[in-house]
Amino acid sequence: MSPESYHPCSTKVLPWPGDSERPASSSLVTQPLAQLACNCGLRDRLILPSDAAYWEQLDPDVRRLPLDGKVFYPKMWQFSPPTRMGFVYRDPIVKAPNVHLYTYANVVEIVPNEGLTAIESLRAKTIDGKEHRVRARHYVLACGSIHNARLLLASNSRATQGVGNGNDLVGRFFMEHFEIIGAQVAFEKAQPFKLYTVPSAGRARARAELALMGDVQRQHRILNGTASFRPGPITGREQSRFASFSDDAEANVKQRQAMRNTPGAGSPPEPQVIYQMFTRQEQAPNPESRIVLSSEKDEMGMPRANLRWRFTKIDKHSIRVFYELLGQEMGRAGLGRVQLMDWLLDGDDDAWPNILSGGWHHMGTARMHEDPKQGVVDANCKVHGLANLFVAGAAVYPTGGAVNPTLTLVALALRLSDHLKNRVMF
Ligand SMILES: Cc1cc2nc3c(=O)[nH]c(=O)nc-3n(C[C@H](O)[C@H](O)[C@H](O)COP(=O)(O)OP(=O)(O)OC[C@H]3O[C@@H](n4cnc5c(N)ncnc54)[C@H](O)[C@@H]3O)c2cc1C
Repeated sequence: MSPESYHPCSTKVLPWPGDSERPASSSLVTQPLAQLACNCGLRDRLILPSDAAYWEQLDPDVRRLPLDGKVFYPKMWQFSPPTRMGFVYRDPIVKAPNVHLYTYANVVEIVPNEGLTAIESLRAKTIDGKEHRVRARHYVLACGSIHNARLLLASNSRATQGVGNGNDLVGRFFMEHFEIIGAQVAFEKAQPFKLYTVPSAGRARARAELALMGDVQRQHRILNGTASFRPGPITGREQSRFASFSDDAEANVKQRQAMRNTPGAGSPPEPQVIYQMFTRQEQAPNPESRIVLSSEKDEMGMPRANLRWRFTKIDKHSIRVFYELLGQEMGRAGLGRVQLMDWLLDGDDDAWPNILSGGWHHMGTARMHEDPKQGVVDANCKVHGLANLFVAGAAVYPTGGAVNPTLTLVALALRLSDHLKNRVMF
């Protein structure tokens, strides 16, 4: 997990596309950063300011590129050690006197009451066919964005369109972060690059990416995105990360461990003259990008999820404008030249190359909005129209932003737990 430090632009709600579709969410994330960072494994590491200036004054080799600070800024990321929540929080959960933990229990249906005003029970099954009912005062769905939607949609015995889906919004607005190489940059001469690799202070590790100031995004009506530098030119052999991801979860973990253990991994490479530019960008909320139920069923008789990941023109347009602005800035500063990749110059903003990846960041599908006609949950993550059903996780995000999703979803989960404590106690 690599939770990003907060920068005002990271959580600012930008007023497009469609002002009404972008409910303010930054004010909802009020958990102190230090508490969040603890939950994400940064407990005994330093939590440092997100301003690159902090890192620059620690080390003379850590210097930002001399770009106009009103246009581009170095957006800092801090890296936690990989935090396996299941290991880290196992003991506190198992030992808690007021928590009952059931493993191998797959929820197969959320059962509402006859009036469809509240949840009555959950149906859970084990893989060998045992079935249980679970009853509670409040229910929190925390199955990830795809499975939250799947479960709500598949719970259609009483609510025929699915639970919480009276306005046909469940599963819609699925979002990922686009991750893709978009350009290469050739500097006049090698630059000090430590800021953009992994400078460290004490035990904390961080890195900058280039980001556009919010005002510039607003002026050009583009989405929020960043670009990081990868040493060396584009080779034509670039691949989507999807291509190297295996269905075998253990193989993926081993592959990532091997990468981490490669000699030299994590240490700053020598400054180069040519770099690939790697985009991370939000996608515009799009109702046609969605989870639907498959006709195929799993071992427990539950319909599988089908993902229809769909894009809009502004997604690709925004990446192109970002690199055009970077090219102008690099030229103005006399730093070098930016060459956009052909796929950005093909004149078709509906076409994407097969090197496109996502960040494994599934968001949307139960978006937050005060108006039940525009969102599935309200500002307290409660499903509209149901008194006791809540959603935790990135499914509630109305927009994706250009940050990794987990720190914010932990913030929202903590906020939801406070809300529920108040409801249960008073
Ligand atoms: C390879 C990879 C790398 C990532 N790297 C980063 C990163 O660097 N930074 C970052 O911020 N995020 C990262 N993410 C995303 C991050 O993993 C998610 O944001 C986060 O795990 C979401 O947390 P969650 O609790 O909402 O859902 P999940 O972690 O998906 O947990 C949902 C749980 O619900 C269970 N479940 C599903 N359906 C049912 C059901 N019907 N009944 C019972 N249980 C069910 C699932 O088995 C699962 O255990 C990465 C993801 C991947 C795959």
